[in-house]
This record gives sequence, structure tokens and C-alpha cells, in this order.
Amino acid sequence: MNVEQIRNIAIIAHVDHGKTTLVDAMLKQSHIFRQNQQVEDRVMDSNELERERGITILAKNTAIEYKGIKINIVDTPGHADFGGEVERVMNMVDGVLLLVDSVEGPMPQTKFVLRQAIERGHKAIVVVNKIDRDNRRPEEVINETFDLFVDLGATDEQCEFPVVYASALSGISGMDYENLTDTLEPLFEEIINELPSPAVDVDGPTQMQATLLGFDEYKGQIVIGRLERGSIRKGQQLTLLAADGTSRSVKVGQVYIHKGLARVEVEEATAGDIIALTGIDNVGIGDTFADPEHPEALPPITVEEPTLRMT
Ligand code: GDP
Repeated sequence: MNVEQIRNIAIIAHVDHGKTTLVDAMLKQSHIFRQNQQVEDRVMDSNELERERGITILAKNTAIEYKGIKINIVDTPGHADFGGEVERVMNMVDGVLLLVDSVEGPMPQTKFVLRQAIERGHKAIVVVNKIDRDNRRPEEVINETFDLFVDLGATDEQCEFPVVYASALSGISGMDYENLTDTLEPLFEEIINELPSPAVDVDGPTQMQATLLGFDEYKGQIVIGRLERGSIRKGQQLTLLAADGTSRSVKVGQVYIHKGLARVEVEEATAGDIIALTGIDNVGIGDTFADPEHPEALPPITVEEPTLRMT
């Protein structure tokens, strides 16, 4: 897959502002815009099989296709209690959707996650959701959101965020809340046009950082990360550079990517995509998988204790 055809994003939302509803609607509608029904149906079949075998990896992430562009949506813990996880997710994405209720406006709990996105230099698209509500106050909500960006030290460029109005519930959106389109197409268009594709090196020697770890009863440890350089193949021999400076040779078991709500095994994944690897034990957060000829580690990740607790 060409890196220009990938967008890795996170959705930042206060609880109940409609993240789940929006992702569901995006998934449903991506079928409307899809050109190749047959391929997708085959994918669904293999997913069913995987589900039966009990592979539960990556369950929290979603991938949607729109006009040939793959949009990976990485789930973001909406809460500071997750410590360094938010920061790590922000390292895997290249832009965010900030989802805000058209009545409630931005809430304190979104601030922590938004701060991480802003510090990481990401651009945000502000989605004013629940625009169908009677007592909506979109203009005030935009002003409050702008003030929040300023408070968080956003750059001028970040403060000039695009705004999309939406009703995730009705599956409609638009750039003008008095004139909405009957689909989420305006939102999809903003995502592919306003958010960048991953800044990765497709032709370089393999390099990927273990960013999130999972565990599957059948497959053992699952390592999740964005492939930074080159490609990774099933069965490939790589060097694992641990955060403590040691290194060892490892063999990749299986390689998974996302399709819809499911994980699909592939022979090979390419730079820019968010992938999962199985078959490698004792991997630590921040460890780097590298081409044995080019054993270059990515900068270490500090796994932090929660710095802020919200009650
Ligand atoms: P999450 O906690 O952010 O994942 O929020 P949910 O997607 O679970 O939505 C919370 C509630 O808001 C549910 O009752 C949804 O039906 C409702 N909701 C979501 N989107 C909209 C919308 O666009 N308009 C209205 N009126 N309700 C919505």
C-alpha cells in the first residue's frame, strides 16, 4: 500500500459525545463509497474465521476505506489514568478528530488527550457532533474550543482547525450547520484532504517500535505499532533492540493489519500502516524491531505513571 493512501488518526472525545456512534456510522458509510465489494466480502469471511479462533487483538482499532484511502482509527483512552498510553497513541497517528457535543462544548476530560496531540504537533479537525440537538450552540462551542487550543499552547496553524458539523446518529455532516449533506462524505473529505499521510520511509530498512502490547490466549504476546520504515513479512528474521540496550534475533510469526473492525493476516505490511505482530515473546514497550543489517533503535519511550487523576 502506498503511504499516500494512508491516514492514521485518533478520535478525542469526552464520554458520551458520540465517538462510538461516529465510528459506527463511518464504518457503515464506507460501504456506500466502496468500489470493490467482492474483496471486502472475502475479508469479512476470513475475519469470521479469526473470530472463531478467538483472536481478540486490535479489537479497539478500526480501519475504514474511503476513495482508496485507508483511514486507521486508533482508539484513545479518554482518561489521564492511562498514563503514557495516550502519548504512545499520539506517536502512531498523524492527526486527530476532536469530537465535541454541540450543546455541551469541550469538557475538561478531553483536555489532557488534546494537550498530548497538540504537543506532538498534530493537526486537529474539530467535529461538532449532535448538531441535530434543539439547543445546539455551535458558534459558542467553536469559540470555547478555540480558547481551549490557545490555553493548551497550540500554534497559530493548529488554532486554524477545520470544522465539520455532524450528527453521528443520523449519519450526516457538513461545513455549514444550516446546510448539511445527507452523508458523512464531507467529514471523510476533510480527513483525507486536511490530515497528512504518515511521515515514514517506505524504502528504508525495516524499523518499527513496539508501541502498544496486547495478549491473546492463542497467539501470546501481540505487538502493535506503526511501521516506520520498509516492510515486515510473515516469518521474517529481525533484530529486536530492547530499551535497555541489549539486542537479540527474533522471528516474526504473523503480521496483521486492520480492515473494518477486524484484523486481517497479511504476508507483508508496508511502512505507514498500523500493524500487529505475533510470535515474539518478552517484547517491551519502546523496543525497536529492525533490519539485522541496520540495527538502529528508535528513541526510547518513557512509560509514565499517570500524572493527573480526574475524578
Ligand atoms: P461515546 O461515549 O463518545 O462513545 O458516545 P456514544 O457514541 O456511545 O453516544 C452517546 C449517546 O449520544 C448515545 O445515546 C448516542 O445515541 C447519542 N448520540 C451520538 N451521536 C449523536 C448525535 O449526533 N445526535 C444525537 N442527538 N445523539 C447522539
